Amino acid sequence: MEGAAVRLLRGSALLMGIEIETKYGGTGASFFSSILAIEELAKVDASVALLCDLQNTVINNLIRKHGTEEQKATYLTELATEKIGSFCLSEAGAGSDAFALKTRADKKGNYYVINGSKMWITNAEYAGLFLVMANINSDLGYKGITCFLVDRDTEGLHVGKAENKMGLRASSTCPLTFENVKVPETNILGQIGHGYKYAVGSLNEGRIGIAAQMLGLAQGCFDHTIPYMKERIQFGKRIFDFQGLQHQVAQVATQLEAARLLIYNTARLLEGGKSFIKEASMAKYYASEIAGLTTSKCIEWMGGVGYTKDFPVEKYFRDAKVGTIYEGASNIQLNTIAKCIDTEY
Ligand SMILES: Cc1cc2nc3c(=O)[nH]c(=O)nc-3n(C[C@H](O)[C@H](O)[C@H](O)COP(=O)(O)OP(=O)(O)OC[C@H]3O[C@@H](n4cnc5c(N)ncnc54)[C@H](O)[C@@H]3O)c2cc1C
Repeated sequence: MEGAAVRLLRGSALLMGIEIETKYGGTGASFFSSILAIEELAKVDASVALLCDLQNTVINNLIRKHGTEEQKATYLTELATEKIGSFCLSEAGAGSDAFALKTRADKKGNYYVINGSKMWITNAEYAGLFLVMANINSDLGYKGITCFLVDRDTEGLHVGKAENKMGLRASSTCPLTFENVKVPETNILGQIGHGYKYAVGSLNEGRIGIAAQMLGLAQGCFDHTIPYMKERIQFGKRIFDFQGLQHQVAQVATQLEAARLLIYNTARLLEGGKSFIKEASMAKYYASEIAGLTTSKCIEWMGGVGYTKDFPVEKYFRDAKVGTIYEGASNIQLNTIAKCIDTEY
């Protein structure tokens, strides 16, 4: 059965193909529009926002940037409306150290044979297209990593059981195995051996989307909580009227606004063709931190009911945690920020 997130977005050209050119059936809008859509969706549900984020900021953009005209005509047209894409980089032994991946692609005539396995693949349960990073020659190290476009019904591609996660329950996250999966060489995306560049490039951009997801969910949680605080009476007055709470609310509201400006500025830099890598890491790191803080505070501010499943704030709290883990864990963002500072001074 399809998940709620998939049912919501499937068939929505507006949200599946935000930047895809209108000639392929997309909306032809900007990267900034994707960021705003992700933020707004996450105010309601972070899983739906994740689907929109990955589809637009990673999958569609990789094909838009590196696809042949034929690949674009085939895949972008489908991705804009019907087909969901999955990005397959991580493996059991290759998480933060993604380029330690072991999945192989061996050339046989005019096709490649892929063997190996992937982990944590978002939307894999429903995806029709998998962008798979595999090494064509391990002697080359990470410079052998190549991106393959693999259709779901390709023989030998198995999608495993979805993980039983703490949060993002409406988003499927599955392992994949590849057993002699034959892929024609025409399904290589971009250049052989450039997969690592594409992965880094798309994750740099995708991070702004995850930051927007974290901001949106934090804002959505805050928006649920404040009205409750203005109704709940203790000691004969609204709990919102206690200055001890007002100061906390004001601090969180300020942090949300700071995250928003960091994210919007990073999207603006990207669109303007300026350097944005340090800012993208800062945005993702900061938005993830404040999403954890905001959702935790919202539970506290609501007291016991905040801790129950009768109100949505505990769900926002569970959904927020992954922001410090995926598309580069918080320490990896800090490494990137420090590396950029090192080259600046
Ligand atoms: C819900 C979910 C969805 C995902 N979706 C996808 C997907 O669609 N496609 C995909 O390819 N992957 C996906 N991932 C994988 C995700 O990108 C990895 O989980 C992430 O890169 C971290 O890798 P890891 O889990 O192996 O943790 P590890 O790399 O083992 O990290 C564990 C801890 O060690 C720290 N650490 C690691 N290296 C360093 C270092 N050099 N310096 C300091 N600290 C360090 C990390 O910060 C972290 O705290 C998903 C993961 C989750 C949980």
